[in-house]
Amino acid sequence: MHRKFLIISAVLLVLASHSSAGQQIALTIDDAPARPSKLYSAMKRSQLLIQQLKEAKVNQVVFFVNGGLADSKSGLRRLQLYADAGHLLANHSYHHWDLRKKEAALYAQDILKAESLIQHLPNFKKWYRFPFLQEGETREKRDHLRVFLKNHGYLNGYVTIDNWDFYINRLLQEGLNQGWRFDKDNLKKVYLEHMWNAVEFYDGIAKTFFASPVKHTLLLHDNDVTAMLIKDLVVLLREKGWTIISPEEAYADRLATTEPDVLLNNQGRVMAIAKSKGYRGPFRSGENARTIKNMFTQYNVWLN
Ligand SMILES: [Zn+2]
Repeated sequence: MHRKFLIISAVLLVLASHSSAGQQIALTIDDAPARPSKLYSAMKRSQLLIQQLKEAKVNQVVFFVNGGLADSKSGLRRLQLYADAGHLLANHSYHHWDLRKKEAALYAQDILKAESLIQHLPNFKKWYRFPFLQEGETREKRDHLRVFLKNHGYLNGYVTIDNWDFYINRLLQEGLNQGWRFDKDNLKKVYLEHMWNAVEFYDGIAKTFFASPVKHTLLLHDNDVTAMLIKDLVVLLREKGWTIISPEEAYADRLATTEPDVLLNNQGRVMAIAKSKGYRGPFRSGENARTIKNMFTQYNVWLN
């Protein structure tokens, strides 16, 4: 009896350690440096974001730079601020085009236009994040870009955990523009629940298709919600047993050299690899407008 109990305990321990151990995640922030909003000047927001990361003891994230947003004295100054704080800068194109709507050669030139703007800044990495995570709707376009990036020394700055954080910020801005006031604690509930759902969803798929844990990359955006709540997100991830790693460590994962043969790859690399291995859904977890609007109502985000 005693021996049986020991064996069962040992099995449970192994299961528990497999399900929770080794989960690592890097933070990647798109569309930097963002424009001012009703809540923050552009500089105030950048400073807040840096401060929150520092308080959360996150040494390094990567900002994927949208050249069109960065192309001014103040834009470049804010990128310098991110770099001075130890964070990395990488390429997110100049015009933020959707690859489906552009010819591949023109699209590729836009990547170089952004590069020429930011390549001299400190901590610049040759990583490219596709806007809208759209990597091409035909094999021709997809492969044109894959070859182009390789020839120019770029790594695909993929994500593994997609989500709709941008939409939470969009709803916030729409309300602020109406003159509404919001409850920050309740906004935090919406944000943390949405983000954790996304992390669990994509990590669940990773666990199904990979024998050992992958190093994750989380999609975030340079906006008010991120600046206000990123520290809380980091606290939550750590409470759940996750470790924040540097983007360089994340992109050293085997995922970085696995380019699956799929199209309309707009949900990141884990999903792309799962699809290439026959995954047939479900494809999203709460990543839609209706779910997030309902959460705003459910959690009483608006005070009036
Ligand atoms: Zn973007």
